[in-house]
Amino acid sequence: MKIAVFSTKSYDREYFDKYNRDYNFKFSYFETSLNTDTARLTDGFDAVCVFVNDNVNKSTLKVLSNNGIGLIALRCAGFNNVDIESSKKYNISVVRVPSYSPEAVAEHTFALILTLNRKTHKAYNRVREGNFSLKNLIGFNLKNKTIGIIGTGQIGQSFCNIVKGFGIRIVAFDIYKNKNLLDLGVEYFDLSEVFKQADIISLHCPLNEHTKHLINKTSISKMKEGVMIINTSRGGLINTADVIDGLINKKIGYLGIDVYEQEENLFFNDLSERIIQDEFILRLMSFPNVLITSHQAFFTKEAMTEITTTTLDNIKAFKENRKLVNEVK
Ligand code: NAD
Repeated sequence: MKIAVFSTKSYDREYFDKYNRDYNFKFSYFETSLNTDTARLTDGFDAVCVFVNDNVNKSTLKVLSNNGIGLIALRCAGFNNVDIESSKKYNISVVRVPSYSPEAVAEHTFALILTLNRKTHKAYNRVREGNFSLKNLIGFNLKNKTIGIIGTGQIGQSFCNIVKGFGIRIVAFDIYKNKNLLDLGVEYFDLSEVFKQADIISLHCPLNEHTKHLINKTSISKMKEGVMIINTSRGGLINTADVIDGLINKKIGYLGIDVYEQEENLFFNDLSERIIQDEFILRLMSFPNVLITSHQAFFTKEAMTEITTTTLDNIKAFKENRKLVNEVK
């Protein structure tokens, strides 16, 4: 079976080559992302393997279908970048890695909170330059603060377990209540109440038509003065322009993001010698109380191993005409 792997980085190749020894698929690695223009590269392949920023829209799917592609193997959990309705129309199966390491994302989420609060990133640079001053490095105790979690699935749950250890009160909103978290003492409220009560808001729900721009002018107005907002889920959950306004008028005290709405043109690439054209990210980068990482929350050895082996199993099941347990329907 011939598989075209898009958006390949050296670490993807390293993990696929390592574990493919047990599967013997023929992988061709493309650094470019998959989109309508690059879809023609799939001629002669049976399947494509894509990541978070590949754009598998209707017109991309049309080209894939013409080229006889039968499977899209997402090497991630989220599938907001694939037009699932159109894939059905073209009879192309879509599989994903529903759970690889919720802990990886949850732990990075907490790293963002601790870094933004205690400013270890600034202290590191200061001390390296012989500046031992504490000026402007003051943080706040997390104990007895309230954190609002939106989306209490696998990552949200793992995150709650970490948060609990810090003695932080947890309020949450999800369309379904998580029994394990009720047992842990998590209090569920409607969305407005979570916005109202939380000192820190962390997003762990998927991006879809109900959650797009969940953080916007109206929701920000309901939040506490100086709120910390953390997004390690998907960039589209946040209306970037509204958040920038919130930072300028100091309603938002801290922002930590691992994802960004226009990230496909930026993240995972070394652009240090280029002129960045994206005005929103440049503005965000200019705030002293904004911390940005480039979609690295998933990036642990354990998660990469799980992503790779599950993707290989998904492709094997398709090849052998077995039930696709990780199919997106
Ligand atoms: P999950 O499916 O286990 O949990 C998602 C939760 O969101 C569910 O409990 C669901 O009921 C809830 N939800 C759905 N619609 C909602 C709504 N309108 N409002 C509130 N809650 C809603 O998924 P997960 O594994 O916990 O992953 C969550 C998200 O994290 C993914 O969708 C993905 O976008 C993101 N993610 C990011 C990274 C990263 O590296 N930054 C890695 C993996 C996943």
